[in-house]
Amino acid sequence: MHCPFCGANDTKVIDSRLVAEGDQVRRRRECLASGCGERFTTFETAELVLPRLIKSDGSRQPFDEDKLRAGMQRALEKRPVSVERLEAALVHIKHKLRATGEREVKSLVVGELVMGELQKLDEVAYIRFASVYRRFQDLNEFREEIDRLAREPIKE
Ligand SMILES: [Zn+2]
Repeated sequence: MHCPFCGANDTKVIDSRLVAEGDQVRRRRECLASGCGERFTTFETAELVLPRLIKSDGSRQPFDEDKLRAGMQRALEKRPVSVERLEAALVHIKHKLRATGEREVKSLVVGELVMGELQKLDEVAYIRFASVYRRFQDLNEFREEIDRLAREPIKE
C-alpha cells in the first residue's frame, strides 16, 4: 500500500486489530521512506454482496441498510437501547443474509430477522415492530405504516 503522504511503496503494518465485531480489520501502517515515517490507518472489509429483496408483489429491490436502520430506530424510539447495540443487530442481520448464499431473498425473511434481533434488544420495540409488520409482511408497506404511526403518539 502506497504512503498517502509521500507516495512511497514501502509501508509496514505496525498494528492490526479486528473491529466492528470482527467484520473489519483496522491496520496502523508506517511509511518506511527516509524523511517521511508518517503513520496512517486503513480499514479492510470483506466485500460481500447482500441479496436483493423480493417484495410481496414480486418486484425486486436492492437491500437498503439505511432504510432498515430507520425502521428499527423507529421501533426503538425512546427505548433504553444504545446505538452500539442497534448497529450490532444490523451486523447480525447482514451476516445472516449473506450466510444464506442466495442472490435474492423474500423481504419477509428480512422482517423475520429484524424481529429476532428486536426481541433480544427490547421487548417493547419488538412488540411495536411485530404488531405492525405482521399485518403487512413487506418492509416497504411496513415503513409507510411506521411513518404514519410516527406522526401519532405511541400507546404503551
Ligand atoms: Zn511516506
